[in-house]
Amino acid sequence: MKELIQAESTAEKGELAAAEVIRSRFRRSGIDSWIDSWDQQRANVVALVKSAGRRAGLLFACHLDVVGPGEAAWEYPAFGAVEAGGRIYGRGAVDMKGGIAAVVTAISRIVESGTKLQGDIVFAAVAGEETDSHGAERFVADRGRLPALAGAIIPEPTDFAVVTAHRGMLWLEVTTTGKAAHSSTPYLGVNAISSMRLILNELENYEVWRPTHELLGRCTMSINTIAGGKALNVVPDKCTLGIDIRTLPGQDLQRVFADLEVIFAGLKSKNNEFDAAVSVRRRLDPLETDSRCDFVRSFCSAVRAGQTKAVGFTTDGPYFASLGAPVVIFGPGKPEMCHKPDEHIEVADLQRAVEHYKNVILKFLT
Ligand SMILES: [Zn+2]
Repeated sequence: MKELIQAESTAEKGELAAAEVIRSRFRRSGIDSWIDSWDQQRANVVALVKSAGRRAGLLFACHLDVVGPGEAAWEYPAFGAVEAGGRIYGRGAVDMKGGIAAVVTAISRIVESGTKLQGDIVFAAVAGEETDSHGAERFVADRGRLPALAGAIIPEPTDFAVVTAHRGMLWLEVTTTGKAAHSSTPYLGVNAISSMRLILNELENYEVWRPTHELLGRCTMSINTIAGGKALNVVPDKCTLGIDIRTLPGQDLQRVFADLEVIFAGLKSKNNEFDAAVSVRRRLDPLETDSRCDFVRSFCSAVRAGQTKAVGFTTDGPYFASLGAPVVIFGPGKPEMCHKPDEHIEVADLQRAVEHYKNVILKFLT
């Protein structure tokens, strides 16, 4: 766990070092694992525990990457993995190296105990969940190597709640294009920031999608970045806006694009020099696992959870769901700790997670 935090797997450094920590841990228990790496430092690590093959297997699907330490000061060094007061501090302690360490330990202990398994265990820790989901895409594209699966477990921090649903994500970039000019003669240019202001005014009252979902609530939209202008004496010819839309199952995303086109066309009809375009920066589908299916019911009984719930954050879950197996999210650590300074996990929670994952493996595979 500490080595995993120390293997600083931010978007800048890549996931390879963290993947190697996991491979050497599995090797010590005689478990087969391999690393898929690309772009020098990007990596997935996958392990497979073979069985008699009489039952469908289980997939534990994690992500290796972490977000950066951020601007705020930390009391403990962000990649030091300091243990103090029964907690381990460091970026990724809850999101999600704690969950990874607990799963790796549970699998290793089951294998070391010599338990006869009736179905395979697949472990995957993939790259780029926080940025581009490339790792999940590559893993899912290589599905030919996988056994039939009874279900997939994502050990993200849920504080031991069984989560079966989350909203999706649509990240849009809106760009306005103008014409540069010396700002002593602004009338010779077209100001892209002024054009963007017109769009912002329209978006102020725009509602993306009205129907609410019984578990997931509303679709929301938040404008989170804006950039434009190069110098104080130049009329800007470009301005970009970043919009984060959290989507619901069954939502027609084409409608968002159609609505934006209507807004743009309306603005252009009033001002011929207005020019705007929209592009997709990232898209992740919502997750909605049937909470009454056999897998979820057995999973809940294995971890002694009474009910399932939905969460506000997103995961790579929809990629793993595309393998055709039901997906649950279940892991140690408080979700509200994610991406914060002094991120930490209770050592007792890690131990509790190991026991839960062992029980899940025993319930489904023996
Ligand atoms: Zn995460």
